[in-house]
Formats: sequence, C-alpha cells, structure tokens
Amino acid sequence: MRGAYGGPRVLLRRLREVMAEPVTAQERLDRIVVLIAANMVAEVCSVYVLRVDGDLELYATEGLNRDAVHRTTMRKGEGLVGLVADEAEPVNLADAQAHPAFSYKPETGEEIYHSFMGVPILRSGNTLGVLVVQNKAHRSYSDEEIEALQTTAMVIAEMIASGELAPPGGGVEPVGRRPAHAGGSPLSEGIGLGHVVLHEPRVVVKNLIAEDAAAELKRLDSALARLRASIDVLLDEGDVARAGEHRDVLEAFRMFANDRGWGRRLHEAVLTGLTAEAAVERVQSDTRARMQRQTDPYLRERLHDLDDLANRLLRELTSPGLGMAPAVAELPENAIVVARSMGPAALLDYDRSRLRGLVLEEGSGSSHVAIVARALGIAAVGQLENATGLVEAGDAIIVDGVSGEVHVRPTPDVERAYADKVRFRARRQEQYRALREKPTRSQDGVDVSLYLNAGLLVDLPHIEETGADGVGLFRTELQFMVATSLPKTAAQEALYRSVLEAARGKPVTFRTLDVGGDKVLPYMSMESEENPALGWRAIRLGLDRPALLRTQVRAMLRAAAGRDLRIMFPMVAAVSEFDEAVAVVQRERARLDAHGHRAPSSMSLGVMVEVPSLLFQLDEIARKADFLSVGSNDLMQFLYAADRGNPRIATRFDPLSRGFLRSLRAVARAGAKHGTQVTLCGEMAARPLEAMALLAIGYRAMSVSPAAVGPVKTMLLSLDVAEAAALLEPLIDAEDGPACLRPALQAYAAKRGLPVEP
Ligand code: PEP
Ligand code: MG
Repeated sequence: MRGAYGGPRVLLRRLREVMAEPVTAQERLDRIVVLIAANMVAEVCSVYVLRVDGDLELYATEGLNRDAVHRTTMRKGEGLVGLVADEAEPVNLADAQAHPAFSYKPETGEEIYHSFMGVPILRSGNTLGVLVVQNKAHRSYSDEEIEALQTTAMVIAEMIASGELAPPGGGVEPVGRRPAHAGGSPLSEGIGLGHVVLHEPRVVVKNLIAEDAAAELKRLDSALARLRASIDVLLDEGDVARAGEHRDVLEAFRMFANDRGWGRRLHEAVLTGLTAEAAVERVQSDTRARMQRQTDPYLRERLHDLDDLANRLLRELTSPGLGMAPAVAELPENAIVVARSMGPAALLDYDRSRLRGLVLEEGSGSSHVAIVARALGIAAVGQLENATGLVEAGDAIIVDGVSGEVHVRPTPDVERAYADKVRFRARRQEQYRALREKPTRSQDGVDVSLYLNAGLLVDLPHIEETGADGVGLFRTELQFMVATSLPKTAAQEALYRSVLEAARGKPVTFRTLDVGGDKVLPYMSMESEENPALGWRAIRLGLDRPALLRTQVRAMLRAAAGRDLRIMFPMVAAVSEFDEAVAVVQRERARLDAHGHRAPSSMSLGVMVEVPSLLFQLDEIARKADFLSVGSNDLMQFLYAADRGNPRIATRFDPLSRGFLRSLRAVARAGAKHGTQVTLCGEMAARPLEAMALLAIGYRAMSVSPAAVGPVKTMLLSLDVAEAAALLEPLIDAEDGPACLRPALQAYAAKRGLPVEP
C-alpha cells in the first residue's frame, strides 16, 4: 500500500518542495496536511496549534470538516490530541475509540475514524501543537511512519515559532510566541529591559530534509568521531587530568558521547530522511521534553549533559573544529545574556556599554559570575529552569534582579509596569545621589564610615557616584579568577596602582588572595578536598606557599609608593597566623627599602574576623592588628555550620538572631577597648535593617556593595543610634527573650518611620 505513494522518504522530498513554494503560511499548512494524508493513505490529517490560553486550535485539516478550521478547539488535556500535547509523546492507536481519553467534536465528523496517530509538535522540548493522522480502518502505523510524522512536525514547529502562522481575525495567539514568565533567584540587583542574546548561540538548522541519506550518515559519523576525540583531548589535558569536579563532568560526557543508545537514535533519525543536524535536533528536543518532566535531580543532570553534548555535536556539524568556544556575537543595544551557566571571565568579554542583564539556569548568589554582575551593575537572575529553552535570540525580555522574575516576550502592560519601575528606581537613585555630599551622620550625631566592597577596576567609579569613604574590602582574587593564567607581579602591581589612583586619596583596604574552597583558579592545580570550605585556602595557602603571598605583598607595597597602604588577611583562625603574615610583609618591606624603592607613607595591617575561633582570641588580635574587619558571610557560615552557597539553608539562620548579634558585639567591644578600628564587610551590612542593628551594637564603619550605599545612608540619616541601642542591647542580653530580634527591629523601624527597605 505504501509503495504506491513512495513512503516516508517521498513524503519528505515532497515536503521540501512545498516549503519552497511562494505561498502564505496557512496555504502551506493546508498543502502539508493534504500531502501527509495522501502519502500515508490516511483519510484524515490535521494540525492543532497550542494557544496562549492553553487550548488546542484546529489550524488545518484534510478529511475533517474544513469549516471546523480555526473554530474547533480542544481544552488542554482533552481527548487524544490533548493527551499527546500533555505527554509530549506520540500516541499510536488502532482502536482510538476504546481509549479512555477519546472524545470527539461533532462538528468535525471524526466519530467514524478508528485508528489514530498523533505526534507532538516540539521545539526545544516545548510543545507547540499536535499533528494527527486518522483512518477509518483499524490499523497500526509503522515506526517509520511515526518518524516521518515527527519530522514533518519539526517543520511545522519552525513555522509556528517564526510567528508566520497568525490566527485569522484577531484570534488567540499560538503558544510558540506567547509571553512567558518564570521565577529564579536574584543574583544582582536592578532591572534590565532588552533583547535576548544566547551566550551559546543555538545552531539554527535550516536544512531539515536530506537529499542523500548515506551522505548524511557519513557526516554524522565523522562529526561524532570529532566530538569524541575532542572530549578525549580535554580529558588528557594536564589540568583536567587531575582529580576534581571538572573531570567527573567530562568523564560523564565521554561516557554519553560513546553511548550506543544515543548513537543509534541519531542514526535512526537520519534514516527517516533528516539531515544530520536535523537528526541531532530531533533527538535533542526529545531529551529536553524528558528533562522538563523529570523530577529526579540526578537524572535531570544527566539529561542536561546529553543536551550539552547535542549542542557540541551541532556545532561540530555546522562549524567543524570550532568546538565549544562561544562566539560573542554582535550585541544589540540592550543585551540580556541568557546562558545555562557561565564563568566570570566570559561575562567580562561582553561589551559593558550594551549589557543590561544576565539570566542563568544555574548560579547562586555567591557564585563569581554573580559577583561580577554586581560589579558591572547589571541585573541578574539565576537558577531559572530551562531558561535557554524559553527564549529565542532577539526576543524581548525583562530581568528583575530584585524579585528574581524574568518576563520573556512581555505583554504591553507588563512592559509598561516595568518601565514605570525603572523610572521610579532612577528617581530613587537621583535622591541617593543628592545625599552624596551629606555627612554620613545619624540623627543623634554619630558619624559613620561607609565604604565599598570592590574587586575590579570597574567598581572604582562607584566611590565618586555614591560618595563612599573609600574601599573597605578589595577582593584581590577577582583579578586572579578572571585571568587565564596566574597574573604576574607587574600585572598585580598595575591593578593595585590603578585602584589607588582611582580612589583619589580615599583609603583602600586590599585583602590578600582568598582562593581555595569554592574559589577555584582554573590554572592552579589543587588537590580535591572533601570539605573545601574548611580546607587549604586563603591565608593557609598563602603561608604554606609564601611565594604567592610574597609576590602579592610586593606588588601592593610597590603600588602604594608614597601612599597609605592597608592590607588585610582572610580566614585567620589563630593569632600566630597573623604574626606570620606580618613577618612576610615586613621582610618584603625591608627588601624594598634595601633596593631603594619608595615606601608607602603609612601601612596598616588588619585581620578578617570570619573564623569563629578568633572570637575567643579577641583581646590578643585586637591588640596586635591595626584594624579588624568582620566577614559576616563566612562567620555566619562557620558559626552555624551552614554552607553559605546552599540555597536550602540560606535562610535557615538569621544574622539578626541573638547568638550572632552577641558574637558581632563582642568584636565591636574588643575594638573599642583596644582602640582598634572595626569594620563589617559581609553582605548583611548592605541591608538597612541589619545595618541599623550593627550601629546599635557599636559598629561605626561598614563596607557594602555600591547599590547599598544609598539605602543604608538614607536609613542612617534618620536613625537615633542611642535610642536603637537602648532598645536592642537588653534584648540581646535577655536570656528568655525571643531568639531572633528581627521582628523587634522591624517594629521599631516602623514606629519611627525609618526607611529600611533594601
Ligand atoms: C565574608 O566572608 O563575609 C567576606 C566579606 O568575604 P567573602 O564574601 O569574599 O568570603
Ligand atoms: Mg570571607
């Protein structure tokens, strides 16, 4: 029977001809259903398109009543068509009417058809519609026919996604272009409106149907061989060859790349008449559809691997040899970069003047790409599921880095609402700017220093914009993290000098390298550790590998010739570590003097208080150090044994709880007792309510991100520090009071009308 019409291959050849005809999209769709019905000797072939309201609308039919086109709709989940859409899987039934999901629409006249085959119209794993064939006779459709129908569905998916298939007379839009709204977690404050740039541009497969299957198989096989070889090379490279997370990921890749099942599915797809790249896309779309329904995190991760692998293979097929290197394409004016994951260096490759936002499927608030996004002042949202599948390059998009929401192809009213929000924020920024010159003094005359946290040169102009008193924490590791090899002493010195120059005489506190733990330098080989946060990191590494610390200190000393130099050491757990670090600085200083270099005009050496053991050596350390700076992010993590990067426990313990406030107060008191300046440079100081508590327990200096200066200063200007202290101190001391003082502080702020919104 099939022979008379030539079977699926002929169908695909004819389909190629139809796609080339100069007709409207609707006419093309009408011809496609006729073609399929004839080729498959089916009495009926219909296309249902999923609409934004969730209904499936009949868009074309051969065999059913044509008057029903654009009039018949099925609700989501209704009938067999709804089932195919819901499950995103083909349904093939010889006796459709016996299926519990069967329902029919009298206006279509479909009650007389017994056999039914429906395939989802998928794109990037998202269902855009359903393609159906029906026969009066009880027949079962062959695997080959299902494949051919799925291939045709890919062609229709492109038509829907391109927006060519508009509903007649203002009907409900197809889902393919519908506005989408999704929630992730905020990584960087701000609101970005713009257009999508895919960090790894999706390969657009234009040529779906093959002319010569044997040639396509050959192309596929050689691309697969190149892909496998490239992964072998990656695995054999020195850095990755050592143990570590990278290697595990790549090993999984190697396993999947050599997986017979995957290879077989790709082959089968080519044998249905697809080009090699269309075959990869088909298999990838199925993977994505499965990924979206998979709830087991481990299996989802594996499906993600397969998805990545398909991307690599597509690139091998379309631009052989280019591998994974993402091309930073020409950017639109307001670029919002969307990626699965991204390192900090990759973000810095984009043209800063056009970048408005970042959306990631992965990434937590303390990831380095998030730190860079904050430094660049662009809105960023992370942990947004299937972000890359939701968008097309060029789509309009809004990134709300305050709430963590992302709107793709927003409706005009959402766009208007956000434009209002942006105007409101700009007005508020204007108000903050107006405060720039005002002294940072509370209602009752307490002077406070507000510094900035920084790590890149791009952060420095913020001193001027915010009127901050200087840089309270310069995270030197950022330069190391964004570099591809260990920065030489000269490069370090050049950066530190530029930073000091940009600060124009305001103090800058350089923190020595805080790497190790989660801050990995790709070019530095590290043993993998069971508990990296508690491992060989920061000052421990600096003291054990003195060359690294020495070079850095030398660069700082030279850069600060004739200026004030402030250096602080991270993760100090014992006073003796500070002594040793001071000795390194003194030796370097003596060396500099001996070589006739100009010395800094003054030098202060300080300690980060972020390991709880120091809380019990406060007198000694406050006496020895020139200043202390509390790293509340790590202090909280270690005091409460709660991983700071784990979103599950991120909000489990409150820094405004009595235990933590007592610890913080002890540091402030030790500083006051010994005349040693105490600053707090963790994230908590950036929130006005928390900053209020810190002022109440004695802090007079804080270091915050640039965006936080305005809100914290606004709160401070109307605060009576002595009154807040009188409220808070007894609550911290009371043994039978509430464990968490947030509610009491909130109530106080409300009573006094203090602006404590971040
Ligand atoms: C801290 O731990 O609070 C801190 C300021 O340092 P980092 O976030 O860089 O560890
Ligand atoms: Mg820290």
